[in-house]
Amino acid sequence: MKKTPLRMCVICRTKADKRDFIRIVLNKDETVTFDPTGKVSGRGAYLCRNEKCIMAELKAHKLSKGLRHPITEADYEQLAKELLAQCANEV
Ligand SMILES: [Zn+2]
Repeated sequence: MKKTPLRMCVICRTKADKRDFIRIVLNKDETVTFDPTGKVSGRGAYLCRNEKCIMAELKAHKLSKGLRHPITEADYEQLAKELLAQCANEV
């Protein structure tokens, strides 16, 4: 059995396996993007895969703190769209 480190949601601070979270990654070119595979290299921040935490993030903008890097408006706009799409997929 491979041990997987726990990740924490930037909003509600719940800890869980990273596969249970939405991963947002700070890329090498300093753009910040949604990482649906969880495999992109770079610093990651995590959000629960639920509407409550996603909507809270869109108001509170805690991801930039989690990433310890500012997120540009353009990146955030794109990110918001992708996060909302995740909400829509939630059953
Ligand atoms: Zn959460």
